[in-house]
Amino acid sequence: ASSSSEDFDFFYFVQQWPGSYCDTQKSCCYPTTGKPAADFGIHGLWPNYKDGTYPSNCDATKPFDKSTISDLISSMKKSWPTLACPSGSGEAFWEHEWEKHGTCSQSVIDQHQYFQTALGLKQKTNLLGALTKAGINPDGQSYSLESIRDSIKESTGFTPWIECNRDGSGNSQLYQVYLCVDRSASGLIECPVFPHGKCGAEIEFPSF
Ligand code: 5GP
Ligand code: 5GP
Ligand code: 5GP
Repeated sequence: ASSSSEDFDFFYFVQQWPGSYCDTQKSCCYPTTGKPAADFGIHGLWPNYKDGTYPSNCDATKPFDKSTISDLISSMKKSWPTLACPSGSGEAFWEHEWEKHGTCSQSVIDQHQYFQTALGLKQKTNLLGALTKAGINPDGQSYSLESIRDSIKESTGFTPWIECNRDGSGNSQLYQVYLCVDRSASGLIECPVFPHGKCGAEIEFPSF
């Protein structure tokens, strides 16, 4: 089924660095399942339009249904952990992502495919591997934004967009990495449009 409100042009696949979510003034809470691995975690797979706008909350008749993704839950606990407070299992985060974003891509992928696609993309992009291979480690040091972008491009074949936030002392740091996925959810593409916002030329990569 599709309606105009369900149409979209491509996806952003967004991954977050947990150290940068947790070291801000707001801090964070580890999931009830324990401290996540020191690795990028999935934030979401977001349908978008080429003009930079995006649909959201497209179908209230298709709520998050854990029973349709029971085979994926253990992988999601590892790869898509929640760091928001209060501590949760992750379900509230996954539910939010499905309802806000996933319901807008149902003309292409159903709920199981939505979560499975995101999990597959995380494995395939291996951001931490791309960075460490280039000598960029989560050690609290500063790295050039260019070297971060180049190492991810070198490894994935596609130009990422880097989002920064600020640590407790106000330093600009690597927070989220955006890659683009074609409308059929079959693979990465060059981004038709990048989000807005700016990092410094040198940004911190905090430990976690
Ligand atoms: P923030 O204001 O923290 O950048 O974004 C808040 C939320 O808005 C995100 O978690 C996401 O749900 C949504 N959002 C922000 N920017 C974009 C975008 O460019 N595309 C889509 N699809 N959603 C976005
Ligand atoms: P967005 O609407 O920006 O896609 O998703 C952000 C929402 O998910 C926020 O309301 C936030 O409270 C919730 N959330 C739960 N866990 C996390 C997390 O680990 N990271 C982020 N960025 N948001 C989370
Ligand atoms: P939302 O209300 O959409 O969860 O989150 C809005 C913004 O606040 C998100 O971009 C997210 O990065 C940040 N945020 C939400 N909850 C938390 C939290 O518990 N800790 C931290 N550090 N940031 C949060």
